[in-house]
Amino acid sequence: MSTNQPDICIVGGGLSGLATARCLLEAQPDVQVLVLEKAGQPGGTIATFSTDGYQAEWGAHGFLDNCDESRRLVSLAGLDKEVQTAPLKTFVRYVCVNGRLVCVPQNPLKALTAPLMPLHAKIGVLRDLFKKPLDGDPSVAEWSTYRFGKAMLPLADAVYTGTYAGDIQRLKIDAVMPGVRAMERQHGSVIRGAVHRLRQARRDKGRQRRGFPSMTSFQRGMGRLPAALAEILEQRDSLRYQAAVQSIEPDSAGGWQVRTEAGQLTCRQLVLAVPVNTSLTLLTGLPDMPPPPLLSVPEAPLATVVLGFTEAAGIPFGFGYLAPETEGRFALGTLFSSHMFPGRAPPDRQLVETLVGGRRHPERLQLDDQELIRRSYEDIRELMPLPEPPCFARVLRPPAGIPQLEAGHTELLAWRDQAQARHPTLHICGFGWIGIGINDMIKEACQVAERLGGSEPGTENERVRGVYV
Ligand SMILES: Cc1cc2nc3c(=O)[nH]c(=O)nc-3n(C[C@H](O)[C@H](O)[C@H](O)COP(=O)(O)OP(=O)(O)OC[C@H]3O[C@@H](n4cnc5c(N)ncnc54)[C@H](O)[C@@H]3O)c2cc1C
Repeated sequence: MSTNQPDICIVGGGLSGLATARCLLEAQPDVQVLVLEKAGQPGGTIATFSTDGYQAEWGAHGFLDNCDESRRLVSLAGLDKEVQTAPLKTFVRYVCVNGRLVCVPQNPLKALTAPLMPLHAKIGVLRDLFKKPLDGDPSVAEWSTYRFGKAMLPLADAVYTGTYAGDIQRLKIDAVMPGVRAMERQHGSVIRGAVHRLRQARRDKGRQRRGFPSMTSFQRGMGRLPAALAEILEQRDSLRYQAAVQSIEPDSAGGWQVRTEAGQLTCRQLVLAVPVNTSLTLLTGLPDMPPPPLLSVPEAPLATVVLGFTEAAGIPFGFGYLAPETEGRFALGTLFSSHMFPGRAPPDRQLVETLVGGRRHPERLQLDDQELIRRSYEDIRELMPLPEPPCFARVLRPPAGIPQLEAGHTELLAWRDQAQARHPTLHICGFGWIGIGINDMIKEACQVAERLGGSEPGTENERVRGVYV
């Protein structure tokens, strides 16, 4: 293959780019595809940390196995036997309420008795049945207060802290939950819409219940997924490292000129599978297009404080907890990693990963590692019995934050649609466009691969997008 003139060039060797390439090759094994990756290794945000018998994550800790496209990609990566799962039915989650960890109920009946909010507030949730759809472009906080009452805010906060590390006063509901908004408009109520979809899903599946999804990772950590995908591409000479793309330009034949430090190449079709802000930089000055409505989207920076404890630590059984902002805590939440995925700590040891920073508290990342470890430990020991200080501690600081879908994001997506319509050989996916979770990235990558193969897939916005907490 002449790798300077591939049919298809994919910019970015993170999960989005690798998944696009793998799905494409599955459908068209002979296609000439080349992935250009800036770094010296694949995976971008996804990378596993492993030392002294402890295994933690720089970025994603896992994804829910309720997405067909992700399950298929795991198979295409040859990783079915390495999958490690933590079923949410067994691995309960906690929310911090008034300084205590409260178990999130796994069914609506138990929710009625759980001490997550007062009884009158639980009954108040039913106001959703009588409310008209909310007009405009409300924030998550405005929308959930309107539909379900103020008492729901801490729970909504916990959900969006756990996914976006975001601020529900700024995240826009139309951007983060377009499917739920569609349900609200169509059925006049989210509860009615959810019941309708549940009934329909049961009918479609011949009354077969799916049950609770499982949090999914791999025995050697999330880094295995991009590594296995990259290996397949490397064998075909379809992945080039240290190849930062500096500019892109349409050529007169309807294809693209792609410039890297090492030189220029041309391709028939171009996929940008880089984070939204990198795409916006590369797309500046795209011919026949007005400037984008946002020059960049805000990011929520995070640090992960990895803490090992002896067996004396009373870490609750389960997945972990999230702390709404109203609790005023130092950490956003903590994953009980060695409960969730056994083997993440040496024998007789336990591992937790505490998340600090986020959209509301970027200043906390200015603290040095020792201070982050000290304050994280102080914080979590108020929530669980930790009689001894950690026997292992490390701070992981991912180089980039989580893109935030805030004011102007819906307009930004419309601009992207317009750019792809004006330039039919340009395809844009990646971190922070339609969402930020792994399942979102894989679904969109599969759609791009389908379009490259000549078919027109349905849009993601028609579906109800899940969250991964
Ligand atoms: C701290 C953190 C925790 C997370 N936790 C979870 C979780 O638990 N579950 C979940 O579902 N999701 C989680 N996510 C989100 C998940 O990691 C992302 O959805 C996913 O990794 C994004 O993949 P991507 O390929 O789109 O982007 P990236 O991972 O950012 O990859 C983009 C790639 O493009 C390369 N690149 C950039 N610029 C150029 C250029 N000019 N030329 C060539 N290459 C370039 C980069 O080097 C990188 O390799 C988390 C994210 C973060 C940051």
